[in-house]
Amino acid sequence: MRTINDGFPIKQFNGIDIDTSIQSSSANYYTYSSRVVKFIVIHYTGNTKDTAKANATYFHNGSRSASAHYFVDENSCYQSVALNNAAWAVGGTSVYKHADCRNKNSISIEMCCSGNSIVSEKTINNTAYLCAELCKYIGITADTVDTFVLRHYDVWDKQCPAQWATNNSEGWIAFKEKVKSILRNEEGLTMEQYNELKSLITKQAAEINDLRNVNQQLVNVVQTTMIYNYVDDNMPDWARPAVQAAMDCGAIQGDEQGRLGLSYKDLRAICREYRCGMYNK
Ligand SMILES: [Zn+2]
Repeated sequence: MRTINDGFPIKQFNGIDIDTSIQSSSANYYTYSSRVVKFIVIHYTGNTKDTAKANATYFHNGSRSASAHYFVDENSCYQSVALNNAAWAVGGTSVYKHADCRNKNSISIEMCCSGNSIVSEKTINNTAYLCAELCKYIGITADTVDTFVLRHYDVWDKQCPAQWATNNSEGWIAFKEKVKSILRNEEGLTMEQYNELKSLITKQAAEINDLRNVNQQLVNVVQTTMIYNYVDDNMPDWARPAVQAAMDCGAIQGDEQGRLGLSYKDLRAICREYRCGMYNK
């Protein structure tokens, strides 16, 4: 259940952008600044073959005594009525089957037909994703889908969607299972999965820290024990010009084998003196 005052809160689902460019004529729905919504109702258009765009255009162009919030086909979705407004979709002229669901407190999705007035699996799949987005938006969980996601057939005795209009329709049950599985996958990790992931990350962080410590220890060892005897690849780049200059002007000399015997600290000192110009000839 959610109080809706935003007309177009869902922008896309399952990679399909919701097109809002062809709105229903305002003659076809009740206008509210906000309304409390509990239910999502699934319909089919009942045409032989049609598209979401064609339906949006039809309801845009005149007074039709009917409407729906969304039209879905195999590749696209048009939102025709803002969610804060009540589409004329589930109303009937006789007794309602459902005690509570009405136009005022529901969102209606129309599935388009792909031939012979049949809704294709692709359109059904798209509708499941849109339905799941709307469930999340109004607070329907996987556990409450069976209560709050309905067919027009459940609200009022209309054969809509015709291919699901029986008491134990397998297609309808499968649709709701699909919606539930989308919701469950996106409701996040189980507590067990979360704890497992957390301990793994903690362990990896500790290992990375250990590596940093080892690295620092190596640096310390190098800086305290390494002896640099020659101006070669073993000596750090930054020290070589200074040491060479110090040798050139006779400030440092190697032993009889030419070994300089410099520590890391010596290199730093020589660099300092070099920058101060002490080895300029
Ligand atoms: Zn219907």
